[in-house]
Amino acid sequence: MKADTHPTYFPSAKVVCACGNAFNVGSTVKELHVELCAKCHPFYTGKQKLVDTARRVEKFTEKVAAKAAKAAVGGKKQKTVKRAAMKAAKKAQKKPTRLDETL
Ligand SMILES: [Zn+2]
Repeated sequence: MKADTHPTYFPSAKVVCACGNAFNVGSTVKELHVELCAKCHPFYTGKQKLVDTARRVEKFTEKVAAKAAKAAVGGKKQKTVKRAAMKAAKKAQKKPTRLDETL
């Protein structure tokens, strides 16, 4: 077996969050720095603090509204329905192939 294939493992590596919270985990890195942790993440705290500098939320809502408007005008679904109706009409128009169908 090849020697020295595994990196050094630190059973209690220190994780430091930007909020000041620190805890220990097992890792191959001795010290970690994170921006969010369970103590400060909005999902866990229940406090929504959204900093929308690039107005991403606004852009997303605009995009969704535009898509909905486009679908209302005539989307892929309407095209499918129209095509199915045309197919049914064509089938009805089909000439009889057997003699008993004409009678
Ligand atoms: Zn934190």
